[in-house]
Amino acid sequence: MIRVERLIRTGCPLCDMQRLTKWYEVTDTYIICNCKSCGTPMLVWRDHDPPSEGQREQLLRTARMKYPGMEIDEEQRAIKDHYHFHIGRKK
Ligand SMILES: [Zn+2]
Ligand SMILES: [Zn+2]
Repeated sequence: MIRVERLIRTGCPLCDMQRLTKWYEVTDTYIICNCKSCGTPMLVWRDHDPPSEGQREQLLRTARMKYPGMEIDEEQRAIKDHYHFHIGRKK
């Protein structure tokens, strides 16, 4: 079992947000949770450092397998501390 608490960094807006929204999945490397702003599922890289190119491709593959047919929006919005992408309809 992964301890959620150790993933949280106090003062990081995204970490604070993650605590407030529904979490679908937590792994060693990423979290899938609802985006607080738009309610869309969002895959968030757990680390405060960005993923390598290989890791990023793996994340995209994972998301496409879990959410077939959904748009992946890699635009990094307001919060830059964590690499993340939205999975769902584009706004
Ligand atoms: Zn954080
Ligand atoms: Zn959003």
